[in-house]
Amino acid sequence: MDSPNSKDILEKLVSFDSTSSKSNLDLILFIQNYLEQFKIKSEIILNKEKNKANLHAIIGPREKSGVVLSGHTDVVPVDGQQWDTNPFKLTKKVNKLFGRGTADMKSFIAVALAMVPMMVQRSLKKPFHLAFSYDEEVGCLGAPSLVDYIDSISIKPLVVIVGEPTNMEIVNSHKGVMGFLTSLTGLEGHSSAPEKGLNSIMYASKLINFINSIYEEEKLIKNPTFDPPYTTVHIGTIQGGSALNIIPKKCSFVWEYRYLPEQDSNKIIEKFNSYAIKTVLPEMKSIYKGAEIFTRQIAHVPPLKSSSNLKIENLIMKLAKSNTVKTVSYGTEGGIFQKKNIPTIVCGPGSIEQAHKANEFIEVTEIEKCEKFLFQLIDFLERE
Ligand SMILES: [Zn+2]
Repeated sequence: MDSPNSKDILEKLVSFDSTSSKSNLDLILFIQNYLEQFKIKSEIILNKEKNKANLHAIIGPREKSGVVLSGHTDVVPVDGQQWDTNPFKLTKKVNKLFGRGTADMKSFIAVALAMVPMMVQRSLKKPFHLAFSYDEEVGCLGAPSLVDYIDSISIKPLVVIVGEPTNMEIVNSHKGVMGFLTSLTGLEGHSSAPEKGLNSIMYASKLINFINSIYEEEKLIKNPTFDPPYTTVHIGTIQGGSALNIIPKKCSFVWEYRYLPEQDSNKIIEKFNSYAIKTVLPEMKSIYKGAEIFTRQIAHVPPLKSSSNLKIENLIMKLAKSNTVKTVSYGTEGGIFQKKNIPTIVCGPGSIEQAHKANEFIEVTEIEKCEKFLFQLIDFLERE
């Protein structure tokens, strides 16, 4: 193959519709075949349904502690968004490349892959790990098995670089995310006799009001390094009822909180459960014995804490030619690596401002900055 370049690989990666709800296997197989051309073997770690996979590969001496380049292969849906171009066809306009995943985060993966021939040519004293996951966008579901795998086959890596879009700035901490589905069961009846039924939507609104009151309390606990500087609480969807004149039996809503890294991850859900079970449910049951409130956790993205490893942080800052360290309010797979005591930072091309939106793009200069950073890293691993 001709010397691959980042843009051509990005074009290929964008052409796979790897929306989280779909299989990412074609994309993973493309990467596996690509690596095989350079005699790099990769491990495919399938999900239970065998329709999605993580990919892991090591380039360089396996027995040494190396640098993990971590990225997710899935993207968010384009449904309902007004795109000016085909989201799955990389389109260049002036100095921007448009397409779903260009910012979040196929460009980082493309640059890492474009560097593989150079990684192979150089006699690295310490290895690179390529660690590409599935289902990041729906609650980091793929990363745990990938991180377990790396933990089981190699000595602890020196550092993990999660290439989420930070405009190539160094991010050393982010909030954690907890997501839940809460479902209420009441009793159906004619709306002319509300007392003969149990209105699940009206009780759900009590729970939602309680969530709002938790949010107001959280706003008072501030960490000024974050924007916004407090734990946020949010309700994403709500469903319930069937007609104006029927007392609704079922109501459910999904909600989340994004908590400051220093906070106890369970604080809010414990408060919520206690209110739901000790206050609201008995009220409901006094009207109808079969009433239910059920809350299920649907996502947990652990926070990234800045305490990790100053020496490593300084080294990466030097290689990235950056002299500031930042925090972000979005979640990444970084916290999952950090739970295994692997020093972790987030640094990748593109801006989170463009992520998840119609007409997502990356500036060509961001890709060039990322290439330069990886050149520096390759030099470093050759020296060490
Ligand atoms: Zn992302």
